[in-house]
Amino acid sequence: MAYGFDTLQIHAGARPDPATGARQTPIYQTTAYVFRDADHAAALFNLQEVGYIYSRLTNPTVSVLQERVATLEGGAGAVCCSSGHAAQIMALFPLMSPGCNVVVSTRLYGGSITQFSHTIKRFGWSAKFVDFDNLAAIEAAIDPGTRAIFCETIANPGGYITDLDAVAAIADKAGLPLIVDNTSATPYLCRPIEHGATLVVHSMTKFLTGNGTVTGGVVVDSGKFDWSASGKFPSLSNPEPAYHGLKFHETFGPLAFTFHGIAIGLRDLGMTLNPQAAHYTLMGIETLSLRMARHVENAVRVATWLESHPAVAAVTYAGLPSSPWHDRMARICPKGAGSLFTITLKGGYDACLRLVDNLELFSHVANLGDTRSLVIHSASTTHRQLTPEQQSAAGAAPNVVRFSIGIEDAEDIIADLEQALAKIGG
Ligand SMILES: *Cc1c(COP(=O)(O)O)cnc(C)c1O
Repeated sequence: MAYGFDTLQIHAGARPDPATGARQTPIYQTTAYVFRDADHAAALFNLQEVGYIYSRLTNPTVSVLQERVATLEGGAGAVCCSSGHAAQIMALFPLMSPGCNVVVSTRLYGGSITQFSHTIKRFGWSAKFVDFDNLAAIEAAIDPGTRAIFCETIANPGGYITDLDAVAAIADKAGLPLIVDNTSATPYLCRPIEHGATLVVHSMTKFLTGNGTVTGGVVVDSGKFDWSASGKFPSLSNPEPAYHGLKFHETFGPLAFTFHGIAIGLRDLGMTLNPQAAHYTLMGIETLSLRMARHVENAVRVATWLESHPAVAAVTYAGLPSSPWHDRMARICPKGAGSLFTITLKGGYDACLRLVDNLELFSHVANLGDTRSLVIHSASTTHRQLTPEQQSAAGAAPNVVRFSIGIEDAEDIIADLEQALAKIGG
């Protein structure tokens, strides 16, 4: 029987605890698991039998979360890890080797731009930044060293929506996996695999947990990519020396990426999610659809109100009919464009800082996707390390303030903005 999203967000992956009948998934706060006997231990270490060895690799609480997110995204499997940034490295790690590159959108979370433009170079990898509305430029950027294409569904901070179907068609033609960061949309608003994504990554720190209590990430595999077709992904298609010559794709088929992520990625990179964090995220996901619907409803009301305010020059929210990306919403995320957007203030940089300082209900934090309404001036914080050109391309120019609209009463959110905007002067 095929359950609906609201049922799956509560039940997928979970079952009453076999030992105690506990209805809620227990927090298995254990490092290791007792082997039945020496043969059992050997089979587990050879990947001939699936089971628990050591919590850097697998943990029963984390496993429930993996199955839950994989189900909600329509994927074959998932690997949780310690943060959204860890998930991005875990997604690229099996695909890349020194000298390889990834073609990425210029419109990304600020930390991702930094990770891709600086830190991955230490591994000998590189990123080619392209405007993903220019499909010809994406195709032109792909070269023999390209191993993946990376973008966000709804790009933080601007509320820009990527034409996932068009980008997936380019990836397909080039025989490359498309990796989509679905943090801002969540599987409630968009399921990138249905639009052709190979892998979906999340910062579970944001809407999936939903209340600012956890740092976590996940990589979901569609199970649909043929890792052996091109010879470009030897980690997945060729014999693995650290597992007696096991070939992940041949052995595990659609679960090859997931098994590799656990058996090589978590084993050797160690970016593991802890069971306590998995518990909080499971709690959050139980109400994901309810929260996202309310986030969207509030964001539409607040963005509409802001658009008519005399101090505001522009609102980027794709949920507004005035947005250049509004038409894409109907195709990519028909239930709404999320709750992240920016406004441009006529008063410029100084007015932005005064607005941030005068808001009372909003919290001034470097975070998003909380039940609380949050605000940040990206250019002086999260996007501070970027050049002015990168800031503008990412939608974080100096005269721009970003909001993550929470699920409080919309009247209260608007009243707070009204009093703070009255104090910015100019
Ligand atoms: C926050 C965020 C990340 C990074 O996630 P962490 O959990 O903070 O490491 C990546 N992508 C997007 C879109 C984000 O919002």
